[in-house]
Amino acid sequence: MERQRTTGKLLATQGYVIGVEISGSGSRQAVALADLNGNILYQVRRPLEYIPDTETVLRLLDDMLAEVTAPERLDDGRILRVGVAVGGLVDASLGVVRTLHHAHGWDNFPLQDYLTERLDVPCIIDNNANAAALAEVQSGAASPTVLDGGARRAERIVLYVGLGRGIGSGLVVNGKIYHGATCTAGEIGHMLVKENGPKCSCGGFGHLEAIASAHAISRAMIGLSVEYPETEDAIRRVTEARAERITAEQVFQLSAAGDTIARRIVEDVHTYLGIALARSK
Ligand SMILES: [Zn+2]
Repeated sequence: MERQRTTGKLLATQGYVIGVEISGSGSRQAVALADLNGNILYQVRRPLEYIPDTETVLRLLDDMLAEVTAPERLDDGRILRVGVAVGGLVDASLGVVRTLHHAHGWDNFPLQDYLTERLDVPCIIDNNANAAALAEVQSGAASPTVLDGGARRAERIVLYVGLGRGIGSGLVVNGKIYHGATCTAGEIGHMLVKENGPKCSCGGFGHLEAIASAHAISRAMIGLSVEYPETEDAIRRVTEARAERITAEQVFQLSAAGDTIARRIVEDVHTYLGIALARSK
């Protein structure tokens, strides 16, 4: 039997889908072409060194979409759907970007209509953590397990937490993204977890993102190491003497290797992430 997949009203055996990601600052875009089984066939990334205005991002996306959909890549049919993951607040029911936390000029931008019209292909947009949550459910860490006898057991409720420059989370219930009443269901990055805690990118204090994002982890490591020569040495060693470039991953590695300061930071990340997860139930 020919393999079929359904995505909403999509029922097709031939063709392609496109995935687009716009980061929370608008400076890191990615566009990918995939077949209907979700295999990525081609992808482009065009990171910028500055925070661009909306027009610049849209122009860049145009170029990237043109490259990804070049006729020679589409010999198995046409583009059937476009899915866009946005690193900010999105009203998925209206297809509107409410705001990007780290860039200006996006407030209430009707990105879904804009792209649908431009590409003449049905397009859906959602928050990037929601999209990642759904991706994990469909083909990643939370994808259905096949039991003996061939039955599939799918998780009913899946919570995804992404720790990056910011912190995003997405909730998938019975295979569908749960948006809640305010479109911010599962948004835990700006939850207050520590009274008088460090300053957050949004201007508040003690939010989870200010403690547990990749950026916050690097910043804490640099800040706390000042009084600990051993830790400073360790940082210099892993960053080849460019301490300001230390990554969250390197902090976790130093913690695993026994560095006291790195360990304290990682413990904080676990503690406050735990508090946020417990509260977001
Ligand atoms: Zn915040």
